[in-house]
Amino acid sequence: MATTSLPVYLDYAAATPVDERVIKEMISCLSLEGTFANSAARDHVYGWQAADKVETARGQVAELVGASPLEITFTSGATESSNLAILGLARALKEQGDPRRHLITSLIEHKAVLECCRYLESHGYRVTWLTPLPDGSISPEQVAAALEEDTFLVSVAEANSVVGTISDVRAIARVCKARGVYFHTDMAQSAGYTGQVLKDSAIALASLTPEKLCGPKGVGALYISRALKVPVAPLILGGGQERGLRSGTVATHQVAGMGKAFEIMLKEGKSDYARLNALRDKLKQGLSALGGVKVNGSEEHHLPGVLSVTFEGVEGRTLLPSLRGVAASTGSACSSASLTPSYVLKALGLSDADAFASVRLSLGRFTTEEEVDKVLDIFKKTLPGLRQAFSATGD
Ligand SMILES: *Cc1c(COP(=O)(O)O)cnc(C)c1O
Repeated sequence: MATTSLPVYLDYAAATPVDERVIKEMISCLSLEGTFANSAARDHVYGWQAADKVETARGQVAELVGASPLEITFTSGATESSNLAILGLARALKEQGDPRRHLITSLIEHKAVLECCRYLESHGYRVTWLTPLPDGSISPEQVAAALEEDTFLVSVAEANSVVGTISDVRAIARVCKARGVYFHTDMAQSAGYTGQVLKDSAIALASLTPEKLCGPKGVGALYISRALKVPVAPLILGGGQERGLRSGTVATHQVAGMGKAFEIMLKEGKSDYARLNALRDKLKQGLSALGGVKVNGSEEHHLPGVLSVTFEGVEGRTLLPSLRGVAASTGSACSSASLTPSYVLKALGLSDADAFASVRLSLGRFTTEEEVDKVLDIFKKTLPGLRQAFSATGD
């Protein structure tokens, strides 16, 4: 447990602590007494047991999002899933002689999606990069207007990880399907909070990971719709595991951990949602009461635990370092290593200065009300000094 000297952890959108129940499940897959064997080993009971574990997990993952187990392929994470979805589809269609070379995505996708699209762009494909609406959502109308004769793929995340806005991906998928276009969605942040999104949907491909749901890193899954007969060529060749789509010995402990994390979300996601939403509200109201605070994203359709705020009248780059008692993020985890403002906030129309003066506070399963109170107190004590320092610079 966190000691009093450690900052309050409010960066659940970047990584979550693993639930003890998940850890227990993972440990049970490692030792000789446990389910350690190769799940592809058909000649002994150890292998059969490992295969059972993997199939149980596949069922748990499928159930949370409304898929069939046959539609779930295990990977090393949402990043690999998005690579397999976008590059694997492009390659399979090309091999079939499909002439289409246009795809659509948005400027605020996770880097895994952006870089796959950029790669295709540098290899003879054309990409339309949609600017999100001011609330951070992508609308079906925007997608419909961008579709072209040779569009084969649209990729839009269900929830944005920086501002937490949720887009209506089922509606976007319907628009795509009506035009014979495949739709991929990154559900890394939203799985478990948005219900059985894939059930009877027109969504062709979806990237999943347990790492934002108190499950382990280093494992994920790609949903591939059976009804839509989505062609996907593997990117990793070898022993032909995962029905040839993803070679490599299946990491039983990782996969079982993912299954357990998804099972817990199925049971507890609703109550988690309500509790987190209430804590987020408290945080939002407390910060708003300080004045000069703007909330980014949608107040209508958002993740329960993500709050992005911009502080007026502070030098952004000093903001988080001054708030030593709070572990949060100034952008997505991937862009915060460099000193460029969050590309997501920029795409939402924020100036460089405002983007720098923004913080994403993200809450999760183990966040307590006391922690939220503590964080509010820290902001209350620190903000006036930062504002004074900023105005003293004569800006
Ligand atoms: C965390 C995250 C990813 C990356 O997932 P990995 O499992 O680490 O590859 C992708 N997309 C979104 C929206 C995320 O939040």
